Amino acid sequence: MKRAFVPAILGLLVAACGSDPETPTGSGGTGTSSSSGGVGGSGVGGAGGVGGGTTASSGTGGSAAPAGPITGLVKRYDYAFDLATRHAKSQLEIAVAAPGGDCFQTSSELPAVTNATWNGAPAKSAAVTSKKLDVCGEGVSAGKPLVIGAEVDVPLKKFFGLDVGFSKKKDKAGGDFTYLLSWVGGCDRFGPCDDDPSRLAAFHFDVTHPVGTVVLCPGTLTPGDTVTSCDLSGTLAPTYSAFGFAADTLWKRAAFTSAAGIDVVLYEVPGGMIGQSLEKSSVDAYLTWITGLLGPFPYGKELRLAGGPTAWLGFEHPASIILQENLPDLAQAYADATMHVFMHETAHQWAGDRSTIATSSDFAWKEATAEYLAYVFEDEHRPPIEAAASLEYWAAISLQSTYFPRPTDDPPPSVDEFYGDVYGPGPMVFYVQLESLLGRQVVLDGIKAFLAQPGALAVADLEEALEASSGLDLKPYFDAWAFGEGKPEWPTLKIATAQAGSTVTVTVTQTNASKKLYGCKVEVEVLGATTSATAIVDFGTAPKSDTASATVTLVEAVVGTTLEPRHRLVARLAKPGMPAQAEPLRPVWPL
Ligand SMILES: [Zn+2]
Repeated sequence: MKRAFVPAILGLLVAACGSDPETPTGSGGTGTSSSSGGVGGSGVGGAGGVGGGTTASSGTGGSAAPAGPITGLVKRYDYAFDLATRHAKSQLEIAVAAPGGDCFQTSSELPAVTNATWNGAPAKSAAVTSKKLDVCGEGVSAGKPLVIGAEVDVPLKKFFGLDVGFSKKKDKAGGDFTYLLSWVGGCDRFGPCDDDPSRLAAFHFDVTHPVGTVVLCPGTLTPGDTVTSCDLSGTLAPTYSAFGFAADTLWKRAAFTSAAGIDVVLYEVPGGMIGQSLEKSSVDAYLTWITGLLGPFPYGKELRLAGGPTAWLGFEHPASIILQENLPDLAQAYADATMHVFMHETAHQWAGDRSTIATSSDFAWKEATAEYLAYVFEDEHRPPIEAAASLEYWAAISLQSTYFPRPTDDPPPSVDEFYGDVYGPGPMVFYVQLESLLGRQVVLDGIKAFLAQPGALAVADLEEALEASSGLDLKPYFDAWAFGEGKPEWPTLKIATAQAGSTVTVTVTQTNASKKLYGCKVEVEVLGATTSATAIVDFGTAPKSDTASATVTLVEAVVGTTLEPRHRLVARLAKPGMPAQAEPLRPVWPL
């Protein structure tokens, strides 16, 4: 199985492709050259226009067409792609904001476009400079329709050692798997596209393919012999998950189960093991639980699960989840990787698709939420080893992270630099540790409120939602654990015990080099020769002291202690006199 061992690939990564959330699409375009376009004189009368016979000015009757760069957001992408030729035709429907204009700018990683159009007519000009496409045509007023079109040839090229880009690969049965995947900030590799991850849009795809090739795209699927189409409208989605499709020459479609108003359909090649390894009753129960928490499935009636030879363990394309085809053989990280990744990607349909990230630096909340919800179901409905394995994995990889869950570095790191640092610290910091402090129901209530409305959400919004559900000021907690520059320190804890008869006092001291205090509850297992007891040492969410203690009953003499036997806290044990030892790196699995 292909390993996406994050630390090993970090050195290869290239600079991010400007997913700069501060720059709204369309503003400040350069294409003023064609401002002569409009009908009458230059922008005279402005708004007033038609009215009663008072004003006179420009003779030609109607108001002049607006000129200049258009500020506006892309509402809808129509993307036609030919698998055989890799030729793509894009149409972008733009919501034109006041005052309108006659040029629109959006991102384009490809150096040139052809056959550019402007409201159906050939564009007056279209040029790509510094990875921005400027298209100009007849002036368009605010609120009036604007559709721009362009054609490109998409290169066969992958990025970051992941599946980002357009790629072809053999599946496990020897068929041809083809994947077009944007990821955060990447949709402009396939044509003009606003790659800001905070944008939500509608999509339509027409993928032309050879007879026998099965194509999956986001939203409602309409398969055809040589053209397969998809529509995503109503509930919108971000480009990082929705601008994409996958195809395979050997996929066979098979109904799997139906629950909570969702028909789950599998696409696997001969010998595929995903369907066999998923338990229908658990899939049903999970769909019932997650829709009970987050509402009806946002993207139609059908949820497709397809196996492929991907670097990701799974990817959350709306209604078309791609799963690593060898998940059932994955013996690391999760105790039942197929079920875990199915739950993770399904949770993303709400947490990441219906609601997106406000900036790429807010990437962690969507992974944290998908991981945590999978864990809660494991803890409540699956064999105990599954939730325990998830906690152990997250706690271990957290200690090797090089960025905070919500990095505040200036400039911000590109998502391909820090994405591997969110899968452990994300669920631990945002949820598991707070579950210990606040209780699970408070955390779930916070998630439910956080995701109640579609939109673009920041980690600060999550903090606010959890503050509302808990009634507590969580700023000290989030400031210590979630927000920060550089490599996180994480707390280092010293444990001491004092025994009087069968009463053992356990004292925990935070010995952090920064002197920062971390809100937490610490579990310490106190060991006797044949028995043990667990002390819960509570620092609260906003500790004022570096020391806290708790008492437990142990009839035997204390022979030792274990910090965090259940791995519910990201922390290191202080080892007096011992230099900090580098732990061997654990692989991080992107999903
Ligand atoms: Zn994910």
